[in-house]
Amino acid sequence: MTTPNSLSYHVTQALRASIIGDVFVPGEHGYDHARQAWNLFADQQPAAVVFAESAADVARAVKFAAAQGMRIAPQGTGHGSPSLEPLEDAILLKTARMRRVEIDPATRTARAEAGAQWQDVTVPAGEHGLAALAGTSPDVGVTGYTLGGGLGWLARRYGLAANSVTAAEIVTPDGHLVRADTDHEPDLFWAVRGGGGSVGVVTALEMTLYPVRQLYAGALFFPIQRSAQVLHAWQAWTGTIADEVTSLGRILRLPSLPEVPEPLRGRAFALVEAAYLGAADTGAALIQPLRQLGPELDTFATIPATALAQLHMDPAQPVPFQGDGALLADAPAAAIDALVALTGPDADTSLASIEIRHLGGALARPARDAGAQPQIDAKYVMFTGGFTPTPEAGDTVRAQAQAVKDALAAWHAPYDYYNFAETPADADAVLAPASYRRLQKIKATYDPGQAIISAHPVWPTTR
Ligand SMILES: Cc1cc2nc3c(=O)[nH]c(=O)nc-3n(C[C@H](O)[C@H](O)[C@H](O)COP(=O)(O)OP(=O)(O)OC[C@H]3O[C@@H](n4cnc5c(N)ncnc54)[C@H](O)[C@@H]3O)c2cc1C
Repeated sequence: MTTPNSLSYHVTQALRASIIGDVFVPGEHGYDHARQAWNLFADQQPAAVVFAESAADVARAVKFAAAQGMRIAPQGTGHGSPSLEPLEDAILLKTARMRRVEIDPATRTARAEAGAQWQDVTVPAGEHGLAALAGTSPDVGVTGYTLGGGLGWLARRYGLAANSVTAAEIVTPDGHLVRADTDHEPDLFWAVRGGGGSVGVVTALEMTLYPVRQLYAGALFFPIQRSAQVLHAWQAWTGTIADEVTSLGRILRLPSLPEVPEPLRGRAFALVEAAYLGAADTGAALIQPLRQLGPELDTFATIPATALAQLHMDPAQPVPFQGDGALLADAPAAAIDALVALTGPDADTSLASIEIRHLGGALARPARDAGAQPQIDAKYVMFTGGFTPTPEAGDTVRAQAQAVKDALAAWHAPYDYYNFAETPADADAVLAPASYRRLQKIKATYDPGQAIISAHPVWPTTR
């Protein structure tokens, strides 16, 4: 383990005096708790952890870091912590205390402070019959998720969350708070909508909400022994459905934990999960080809949009986890076979979940006035991972996730999906080349000294 570079007593006191929030440094009570990420596998060892209370606090912390020649890593929840570079000389700037959310039903918009989790937005929006483009997990951060694209249950109808952002409030690396929207700071506005958080510290996002009160959604659970049959049928079915359906095929090994419902606890399944923006009778007709395979458990029903947060059964608490993903130009029968061979009923694997999400629809069409991810040039995206309570388990899961990626290499798109790439990689591995080049120039303008540490780094260039 590396030891973080401690700040001197005087520098620490000066940092404390300059902000309203809390500061934790190595060796002090509270530091170990403060440096923890949602992903408990991440062993973050920053020189200091700052909990900002407000945008003004963020600005003060960024100015302080600049004056000290220190780098700064913004973090909301730490769901994305696995892809971060080491933080030994940096300030970890946590926005977790900035969770204020305002919903404006008249304009169908939300404003979420940088530390807001998706449940902070979806629940109050739902009270007005509105839905945000949230992901599958209620406690993922709005900011990190949206900055990296944002692929949720309404994605094939409404696209990536990033392209529904209408404004961003950002502290630039020199410590100024600016508003970026179509009329101000167009480069910053473009960069944060899908290009990650490399150009500044976002303090709030404004976004469009959609009039979605309820959906027909659920999951079909089949015994894992039927993985090949179910995933082949699901993949063929995805070629027939409208943009109103967003779905995924999955192999899931559930842990033997009390929080897992009794009939599912400790068991392994092949699943189809889907959400349909429409009425129950049409939805039932749409999923009939899969339902007629005879699932062991069928949870499809009309549900409020807020209940989408439970559909994917993501862990409700912080966990140690390793995973990785790959964008797939296509996933024909041979790809499904490769996946089932490595993760299906006969596989000896520590991978708890492997999913293939269906893309296309609105995701495939360039969004109007889009940001750094105007569309996704791939039909599917794969994500797999497992629980890693020990470093050895981490090695095993990482190797097995890599083996899945390798087995799917023939169908790999030229770059990956930003939010699902958890192996540290520069942003050119997760963005289209033209987007990466524009991002490099914006980085050179706003952060030539690379003060901001982001999940997928961008190397500044003026060329
Ligand atoms: C259980 C689980 C479920 C998920 N489901 C989905 C899903 O359905 N769809 C999907 O697209 N992704 C999903 N993801 C991936 C998730 O979107 C990324 O991990 C994302 O980075 C998480 O954002 P965060 O703010 O919670 O995490 P953080 O680790 O706090 O942030 C991730 C990165 O975002 C940037 N960032 C965060 N806050 C700021 C800020 N204020 N200013 C500038 N940059 C900032 C930083 O570069 C940071 O390293 C999931 C991940 C997990 C673990």
